[in-house]
Amino acid sequence: MATLGNPQNTIEILKKYDFMFQKRFGQNFLIDTHVLEKIIKSAEITKDDLVLEIGPGIGTMTQYLCENAREVIAVEIDKNLIPILENDTLAQYDNVTIINEDILKLDLNALVKERNGGKRIKVVANLPYYITTPIIMGLFESHVPLQNITVMVQKEVADRMQAGPGSKDYGALSLAVQYYAKPYIAANVPQNCFMPRPNVGSAVIRLTLHEEPPVKVKDEAFMFALIRASFNQRRKTLVNGLTNAAELNLSKEEVQAALEELGLPATVRGEALTLEQFAELTNVLAK
Ligand code: SAM
Repeated sequence: MATLGNPQNTIEILKKYDFMFQKRFGQNFLIDTHVLEKIIKSAEITKDDLVLEIGPGIGTMTQYLCENAREVIAVEIDKNLIPILENDTLAQYDNVTIINEDILKLDLNALVKERNGGKRIKVVANLPYYITTPIIMGLFESHVPLQNITVMVQKEVADRMQAGPGSKDYGALSLAVQYYAKPYIAANVPQNCFMPRPNVGSAVIRLTLHEEPPVKVKDEAFMFALIRASFNQRRKTLVNGLTNAAELNLSKEEVQAALEELGLPATVRGEALTLEQFAELTNVLAK
């Protein structure tokens, strides 16, 4: 089968099935073979791997995954794409399972247990940008056994995931991602690599899951509540940000004492703290 990464072949398939793009599903199909090869290489796919693809579209990247992985599970929400995948673009592969479902509703732990004996899998996707954060955070927080997640995301989102203290992109997403994984931006991808063209630039980012979290905290949920409160009011000092957050129920004196214990100035802002410092703060303040 001719690769769909060639735009002519994609146009042919779309015409054959009279396919109408659904904006609400964030459909921007890849039409660049170099980018597709780059994604497969970055994900470090081998014939041992079970790969979960989120949103196969017409199967452009899925074909590459089928060639390179042991087994592929492709989860697509748009029922109009299923006949294209089953009868046409993936028909020649016997190592792919197509599931017509919303990825946010699927029990991935059960799926990995059943299909990979609970062993760690890889996730690859050109993500629908409207649900990038819920998908990534959902994968992390449900503790699905994962080796890495290699995804196309909006360029700004990739920058935020990789940012550290002192950068304007640093925030709650950076800390959440870096608590679970090591980010690496593998490529920046221009708009003309997609059909239709998105309104924003894109990037491929690989998130390699930590074997152990890089910091130890008494209460994970409390640390993330502290982080959210610190960045909710970016221009405020950490003391004000944390004491203004009603759900944390912290007094000014408590926060000031904790900062002193950590050797941080009373006027410090959340955006100056590293993940290690947020973890220390959590361990001092957690009751
Ligand atoms: N992988 C294809 C490619 O690279 O050409 C398509 C990528 S397109 C950016 C995103 C795909 O995700 C679309 O096929 C869309 O229908 C699908 N999608 C959107 N929301 C989804 C959801 N909640 N669950 C599963 N698939 C979804």
